[in-house]
Amino acid sequence: MPEERRLIFKHIDEVGYTSDIDCYLRHGGYETLRKAVAQSPEDLREEVKKSGLRGRGGAGFPCGVKWSLVDRKSGKPIYLIVNADESEPGTFKDRYIIHQDPHQLIEGIMISCFANGVKQAYIYIRGEFPHGAKILERAIAEARAKNFVGPNILGTDYSCEIFVHRGAGAYICGEETGLIESLEGKRANPRIKPPYFPAVLGLYQCPTIVNNVETMCQVRHVIDMGGEAFSKTGTPGNTGTRIFCVSGHVKRPGYYEFECGKITMGELLYDVCGGPLEGRQFKGVIPGGSSAKVLRFGERFKGKRKQGADMVEFDWGVEDVPMDFDSLAAIGSMGGSGGVIVMDDSVSMVEALANINAFYSHESCGQCTPCREGSLWMKRISSRMVHGQARAEDAALLKSVADQIPGRTICAFGEGCSWPTQSFLIKFKDEFESYYQSKESRPAEALQLV
Ligand code: NAD
Ligand code: SF4
Repeated sequence: MPEERRLIFKHIDEVGYTSDIDCYLRHGGYETLRKAVAQSPEDLREEVKKSGLRGRGGAGFPCGVKWSLVDRKSGKPIYLIVNADESEPGTFKDRYIIHQDPHQLIEGIMISCFANGVKQAYIYIRGEFPHGAKILERAIAEARAKNFVGPNILGTDYSCEIFVHRGAGAYICGEETGLIESLEGKRANPRIKPPYFPAVLGLYQCPTIVNNVETMCQVRHVIDMGGEAFSKTGTPGNTGTRIFCVSGHVKRPGYYEFECGKITMGELLYDVCGGPLEGRQFKGVIPGGSSAKVLRFGERFKGKRKQGADMVEFDWGVEDVPMDFDSLAAIGSMGGSGGVIVMDDSVSMVEALANINAFYSHESCGQCTPCREGSLWMKRISSRMVHGQARAEDAALLKSVADQIPGRTICAFGEGCSWPTQSFLIKFKDEFESYYQSKESRPAEALQLV
């Protein structure tokens, strides 16, 4: 089994490691910021580009490329927003970083701000994390008192402030343009992109970088190690480490950090997480947050995948799939936010889908008809199935609704809400069909449908 490789979680679980600044300083904290402000912003951006670091919020977009797309000629201020609106079901890594090691995040933010000439940064934290917001506010005050944040950082002529902004508890606030609208004081309706990405027209119509909490921490390690050395961790095209949040039916759920692509699904679930519960067998797994397509244990995948610049052939069972962006994409799912949701043979996949559909229907912002109506109908149909009122045509009807959403909406929520239905119906077709025949049902309260 591969060894855990901890960059971000290096100290986090050590006895006596706390979230206060003195503890962070004793462990080498803010030394990388000191090193960064002695370099030129261009060189720092080049290091991040060289590192191959991909965003950890879910889409895996290369961080250095995102920074290079920022409009630096507009004469407008450049903003940096840290997306701490972690709401993807099954994902809980950013909250842990904020609670246990807020200064690592602040150091990453300050390095990123310096590298991009940002004078004002925001941490947008979800409303359900009130404790995390307080921790961050205290940590920023501590960092300001030591001259790591605020005017003339570390004696230079560079000044930068960080503000914590609390959301009010809506999943769509995590979509970067919805987040920007919310930060501007409006309803979090996502904006159409392309043509204008936040890198050109973002907060207050100024160039804006939106990066996830874990990505900001990774930047600190990129500058600490150097882009070249960082690019040698993980695998080609999938560099650095990834934090997996494993939940559901394994003996040891929790947070685990491994080099990208150096651990397979089987190693993670059997060796690291202890395998299935006594007397049970794995049935399905969602590898990257609830909107990633579900995988069925026992299925096989054959094809070609990207490995750096090359295309290589693969022939895998679910257990053999390396846990990285490109391998999971090659088998039709995604690494997404790193939330690995495991379901054993005690789970009714019809009930599981009804639960997911209830969530997405509740969270659609309602701007686009296919998403607003489609997510509602997917919830209604899957909910009546689990209430013993399934109709013969329901599985086909569900699929037809799900198929009409992707590609017809303003934001990626449209894809995210339809992929679970599409994949559950394909992978567990037999279960959906037999569900109708048996008219099996459970009371709504037992399922906690929204
Ligand atoms: P996306 O692919 O549209 O964009 C990814 C990032 O790259 C964005 O910041 C975007 O601005 C930037 N980008 C892409 N093309 C660009 C271009 N040509 N010029 C400039 N910038 C460009 O994806 P998205 O909608 O931002 O994110 C979708 C993902 O979010 C899903 O994969 C899902 O896993 C994830 N997600 C995560 C959470 C969570 O809690 N972490 C919650 C919901 C969804
Ligand atoms: Fe809103 Fe859904 Fe349209 Fe996104 S896809 S803008 S969540 S209605």
